[in-house]
Amino acid sequence: MADQDQASEAQLEGQLAEGEDVALWTGLREAAVEAMRRAYAPYSHYPVGAAALVDDGRVVTGCNVENAGYGVTLCAECGLVSQLVVTGGGRLTHFVCVNADGAVIMPCGRCRQLLFEHGGRRLRVWTVSGLKGMDAVLPDAFGPEDLDEVVH
Ligand SMILES: [Zn+2]
Repeated sequence: MADQDQASEAQLEGQLAEGEDVALWTGLREAAVEAMRRAYAPYSHYPVGAAALVDDGRVVTGCNVENAGYGVTLCAECGLVSQLVVTGGGRLTHFVCVNADGAVIMPCGRCRQLLFEHGGRRLRVWTVSGLKGMDAVLPDAFGPEDLDEVVH
């Protein structure tokens, strides 16, 4: 794992935009790896861990939880968002998710919507192609303000 950690840090440093905090991102990735180790993935054998920083400084995590009824499987982001809400809410500011190798992976389409709801356009996401804003991860996203635009 140490080699992977170093590779990931090197990858991150190569992708860092001005003003990004390497220690913050590597700490979040480590939290995601810890969460991944607790995943319940007996069917896919593809454990995933996710971690995010909240605007009050909390770190929330989640792991995927599969089910014999494959369609009701929960992604790691589902657990993370649940932990966010049950521990007091707030806005997600930084997010990363990893696979069994500790490598950064992308949230699935549904989970991008979950992250947008709780982090908005300014949520920073460590993606497979570097650090990006949520507005790039889910362009022209449908969000809470869209509901307000329809008046009856
Ligand atoms: Zn997902």
